[in-house]
Amino acid sequence: MPTDSDCLFCKIVAGAIPADTVYETDSVLAFRDITPRATVHVLVIPKSHEDTLGQMAADHPAGVADLFAAAREVARLEGIEESGYRVVSNVGADAGQEVFHVHVHVLGGQQLGPVGP
Ligand code: C5P
Repeated sequence: MPTDSDCLFCKIVAGAIPADTVYETDSVLAFRDITPRATVHVLVIPKSHEDTLGQMAADHPAGVADLFAAAREVARLEGIEESGYRVVSNVGADAGQEVFHVHVHVLGGQQLGPVGP
C-alpha cells in the first residue's frame, strides 16, 4: 500500500508513532485526536497514503466510502450515533489542513456550534 516516509499519519499506521486507536479495519484506522476539540474527537484515516480527500475522491472513491462507513462505526462505538455527530474533512490550505494524509474528523459528545469559518 502506498506510504510516504515523511508523513506523520503513515508513521502512525506503521506503529512508529503511538496513537489511541478506537477502530481499525484492513484499510482504515481511527484514533483519538491528540488535541481534542470536542468531547469526542476521533480521526479516521485510510491506511494507504493520499494527500487530500478531494484527490482520494478522484483516484479511489470506494476508499472514501470506507472512511465514512468507519466514521459511522466510530460514532456507534463512542455512543454518539443517536445523539448526533459531525464528520468533517479539511481539504487544502484555505481549510486549514495541517496533515496532508487524508483524514475525517468525527466530532460529538456535546452540542456543536454551526459550521462556518
Ligand atoms: O484537518 P487538519 O489537518 O487540520 O487536522 C489534523 C489533526 O491531526 C489535528 O486536529 C491535530 O490535532 C491532529 N494530530 C493528531 N496527532 C498527531 C498530530 C496531529 O491527532 N500526532
